[in-house]
Amino acid sequence: SRNAMANAVVVIGLGRFGGALATELMRNGTDVLGVDMDETVVQRFNGKLTSVVRADATDEDVLRELSVDEFDRAVVGIGSDIQASILAASRLVKFGCPAIWAKAITEPHAEILTQIGVQHVVNPESDMGTRAAHLIQHRILDFVPIDADYALVRCTPPEPIQQRPMDLLNVRRRLGVSVVAVCRPGGQWEPIEPGTMLYDDDQILVTGPTAKVEHFSNLT
Ligand code: ADP
Repeated sequence: SRNAMANAVVVIGLGRFGGALATELMRNGTDVLGVDMDETVVQRFNGKLTSVVRADATDEDVLRELSVDEFDRAVVGIGSDIQASILAASRLVKFGCPAIWAKAITEPHAEILTQIGVQHVVNPESDMGTRAAHLIQHRILDFVPIDADYALVRCTPPEPIQQRPMDLLNVRRRLGVSVVAVCRPGGQWEPIEPGTMLYDDDQILVTGPTAKVEHFSNLT
């Protein structure tokens, strides 16, 4: 039943992307069924995932035999073989899997995956390139695009907002962004309180329209 697999994730294609993803899911306590057609890859992940099987994930009957049609969350990590990626993803769509992630290696590949109904298409190389551009241009340590024009950013507090209680600074009204959390050197992330004061060696999380968070991070 869907219930038995509710918390598990099926990862099809255990290459660099799918393999790292599956390993991280396991590390954080999520059961993973790994599927790959390469015997060497299957051997490498044997015992490291909840289960690993050697199979061709483009074959609908094979996927049904493996109960892949009962999973609520699925990942297609096949990249270079675009045809196999699209076929495997379309099987998952046909099964009615409610949450499918798939890796694309080109823009047309991403377009087709979206068109056949894959909800989450990632293009690791171009996504990372875009992200790195933001890190290089601005004094930003981490950049997470939330939407076309909205982002979450990790940065150090710009000088103008240092050493004064946050509730007196009116950052949201004046700069259009929200400072949501702070991490002191060697400390842990904590929410910003009205009286929180920020210093040069803190790190903060800031959300808002992309242009505004970038402007904010560059303030001197
Ligand atoms: P990466 O760049 O993340 O390593 P690749 O596309 O090179 O991605 O690797 C994807 C993995 O998917 C490989 O391990 C390959 O054996 C596997 N794979 C490719 N086609 C199929 C398929 N039809 N069924 C199952 N696994 C597949």
